[in-house]
Amino acid sequence: MSLDGKKCLVVGAGIGGLAVARALALRGAEVTVLEQADAIREVGAGLQISPNGFAVLRALGLADALRAAGVQGEAVSLRDYRKGEVARLDLGRLDSRDYYFLHRADLIEVLAEGARTAGVRIRLLQRVERVEPGPRPAVHLSNGAVLEADLVVGADGLHSKARQALNGTVAPFFTRQVAWRAVVPNDEGRGPEARVHMGPMRHVVSYPLRDRRLLNVVAVQERAAWTAESWSQKDDPMVLRAAFEDFGPEVQDILARIDEVYLWGLFRHPVASNWHGQGMAILGDAAHPTLPFMAQGACMALEDAWALADCMAGEGPMEARLARYQARRAERAKRVVDAASGNAWKYHLSFPPLRWAAHGVIRAGGRLAPERMMRQFDWIYGYDVTAEA
Ligand SMILES: Cc1cc2nc3c(=O)[nH]c(=O)nc-3n(C[C@H](O)[C@H](O)[C@H](O)COP(=O)(O)OP(=O)(O)OC[C@H]3O[C@@H](n4cnc5c(N)ncnc54)[C@H](O)[C@@H]3O)c2cc1C
Repeated sequence: MSLDGKKCLVVGAGIGGLAVARALALRGAEVTVLEQADAIREVGAGLQISPNGFAVLRALGLADALRAAGVQGEAVSLRDYRKGEVARLDLGRLDSRDYYFLHRADLIEVLAEGARTAGVRIRLLQRVERVEPGPRPAVHLSNGAVLEADLVVGADGLHSKARQALNGTVAPFFTRQVAWRAVVPNDEGRGPEARVHMGPMRHVVSYPLRDRRLLNVVAVQERAAWTAESWSQKDDPMVLRAAFEDFGPEVQDILARIDEVYLWGLFRHPVASNWHGQGMAILGDAAHPTLPFMAQGACMALEDAWALADCMAGEGPMEARLARYQARRAERAKRVVDAASGNAWKYHLSFPPLRWAAHGVIRAGGRLAPERMMRQFDWIYGYDVTAEA
């Protein structure tokens, strides 16, 4: 079924919102994206797009633009915080080589351009206060305007108003972990590999961006409390350096290059019970915020976006199509969210004998069964949402 002339409002011009906007517009819908910010911009930070996320970008006709913007990843090196490499995951062993390290701003730019060329209108400074499901679902803006549509999509992230309309208010909970994010010059000429330095209650991930001129740095620390729940709070680089001062020289060298750093409290709320209501649906972080430890939050938002547009273009009444969307996505999203939540302890083991044993297992796995080591990720990376009927 074509979506010709169907009026769709998408709340949020993040990764999921822009992707679903293009996907709906390519199927004939008349799409407007409402974004609260005054510009389509992203903080300076990187992310990884694995083959399952890339499959969506390819199906949206954005593969070339994405390849041009990203660094193709070749390996992930797991390292003890002092002793160096424990194991090396060869990304070349994946069925698809389309694994990319990207600047978030570059991904947003590719998606925004893709949305505009498909005819999507992106309206800035549109803060949505309330979303109202119904036969003509409506969006209430902070300037008092009320907009109606055939379909409203809530792609408005962690503090989603759309999620609230469908699931009531559930405050996100602090996961006792914070993440600093920064971008530094790639002075050491790091090749196309991500490195994970694993120490007690902390880890540091780094990988190259933008023709390998830059290095993205994410440093995670377990912490008892967090006062402000903010997406991007500036911090003093000295605080970060002090928190990782016992890490080896490679990490010290990277952290020494940081001039500007942002600190995130990592919050979650449970995967939403209701992903749809009358005439509306939610996707991405609005439906299932995901910890960064599997680097899958953006990829899941992309998969959701494709699945929602695909289901909306299917047969049957609107309610049935929306229900198919949730049925197609909820279980996988929950599995990925759980896997990401379960990963932190593996990186952060603080009891030395336990860490030694765990690293021994990883090391042996990497040496004796490298193929099997990579196959454990098949269910995530090998899945292609665009191939599903
Ligand atoms: C430290 C860290 C590292 C990460 N690394 C990776 C990675 O390597 N790979 C990966 O796949 N994922 C990664 N993620 C996760 C990923 O960033 C998110 O899952 C992803 O951005 C979710 O996309 P989204 O479109 O659902 O929401 P968002 O990106 O949060 O976008 C929501 C948009 O909605 C707008 N908005 C919100 N409320 C309103 C409103 N009321 N009215 C109008 N507009 C509104 C916001 O301004 C924003 O533009 C990481 C996350 C963190 C914290």
